[in-house]
Amino acid sequence: MTDCLFCKIVSGEVPAKVVRETDRTLAFRDINPQAPTHVLVIPKDHHPNVGELAAADADLLAAVLREAHAVAEGDGVADSGYRVVFNTGSGAGQTVFHVHAHVLGGRGLNWPPG
Ligand code: 5GP
Repeated sequence: MTDCLFCKIVSGEVPAKVVRETDRTLAFRDINPQAPTHVLVIPKDHHPNVGELAAADADLLAAVLREAHAVAEGDGVADSGYRVVFNTGSGAGQTVFHVHAHVLGGRGLNWPPG
């Protein structure tokens, strides 16, 4: 999609601090980190949210989740604990409508989240 911020990151039109890349996924650091590790993992293909991705391409969703764990391992937070969040819909705080997994770690994470 031409007006999608994360599609522009995939194409290189908008720069990002990329931490991992596969043929179908990209992981890059959030521009406004909420934890010492705050990485966004996206499919390169445009899907608006996790529900639509699950329905359209479950293998690609699995790839996003594998990459989320690999990011946590790479940042050294897999053993201490990390959180994977898909904000879904504006009422849940989704602001970019290209599905992305937030990978958060490196500090204590409260439950329930705000
Ligand atoms: P959402 O609110 O949709 O769940 O998450 C969108 C995330 O994208 C936010 O955490 C926000 O900080 C991040 N973000 C917004 N614009 C940019 C950008 O241009 N580059 C990067 N790396 N992250 C961004």
